[in-house]
Amino acid sequence: MSAPAADILVELLAAPSVTPDAGPALDVIARLLSAAGFSVDRPVFTEPGTPDVENLFAAIGAGERHFVFVGHADVVPPGDPARWRHPPFAAAVEDGVVYGRGAVDMKGGLAAFIAAALRFLERRGPEFGGRLSFLVTGDEEGPAVNGTAKLLAWAKGRGEGFSAALVGEPTSVERLGDQIKIGRRGSFSATLVVTGRQGHAAYPHLAENPIRGLTELLWALQAEPLDAGTDHFEPSTFEVVSVDVGNPAWNVIPGSASARFNSRFNDLWDRASLRAEVERRLRLAAEAPRFSAAPIRWSLAEEPSPSDVFLTHDEALIGLVSRAVEEATGLRPRLSTGGGTSDARFVKDYCPVVEFGPVGTSMHQADERIGLDELERLAAVYERILDAYFTA
Ligand SMILES: [Zn+2]
Repeated sequence: MSAPAADILVELLAAPSVTPDAGPALDVIARLLSAAGFSVDRPVFTEPGTPDVENLFAAIGAGERHFVFVGHADVVPPGDPARWRHPPFAAAVEDGVVYGRGAVDMKGGLAAFIAAALRFLERRGPEFGGRLSFLVTGDEEGPAVNGTAKLLAWAKGRGEGFSAALVGEPTSVERLGDQIKIGRRGSFSATLVVTGRQGHAAYPHLAENPIRGLTELLWALQAEPLDAGTDHFEPSTFEVVSVDVGNPAWNVIPGSASARFNSRFNDLWDRASLRAEVERRLRLAAEAPRFSAAPIRWSLAEEPSPSDVFLTHDEALIGLVSRAVEEATGLRPRLSTGGGTSDARFVKDYCPVVEFGPVGTSMHQADERIGLDELERLAAVYERILDAYFTA
């Protein structure tokens, strides 16, 4: 008999796995899956300047159709344990709710999918007409360098060809099933530096104040929205997150000033075209006539964060997941592309990917928790997805 999702989650929560040390939680997953007949590999990836990270790939079955569940076993640190109602790694259950770091992000999704897969295999046996795998990293909450991106490439190198992927991050907003994610916005971050000429604040004609130039450029960047949104995406955003001069004096005009900004962009853009638009606005503003006559001297340095926008176009997969959600929860899910980035940004280069998981309200908070009802319904959704994907 396979274990209920609740038992699996309690075991996972009691195995502390603060990023990047996911080992104890990976042990639990490896034991459950190998007992059910999965092959299990735990490759460790390294990169100078980042912690070594252990990952897990488990697979069973053979065939053209290969469904992969993508997740992470690492969790964010618990913070001050005194702020928790129950200790963060005790997996305490109270009034039908289980408490613990990772309960929703994302050991809940992992436990539910493991329970669903074991039940599915119990009913259908190992000859279910395809291949089913788990791709679980210990590096999602950390730098994400030695995690999903490398694990996907590693699996491909061993001949694994994925045909559909499900990421089990929390996607529901108020009730389980109200939202799935079918794409993600891209993220673009950069630092803008304006160079002036340092001098005495009482003699501004002998200096060139970069703060004046910087404020003009920041205004120009925000004067008009980037776009009005698209069918599946909200309007792209542009947010200045810091303005830095670092000048402690009252009587000195500083030599330079900088600002950092972040844009979350939709499918009207890619990183290159967005950067080109930012530079176009900066050029226009820098060269516009002004009382100081001299053009503003600026430079732009892009932050390396490889996360481009994507939208999943596989209507069959989206329809199948939506129907499974509706059948098990009674809710027709909204198809969203909002929020931050996830490891789906790496998966989309290999196969169509959809994200569905629990309500995320308590993620990264003290008292992170999930209701056992919700967890069982999540497992029911996942099991329906497997049955629909591998029709008997
Ligand atoms: Zn997560």
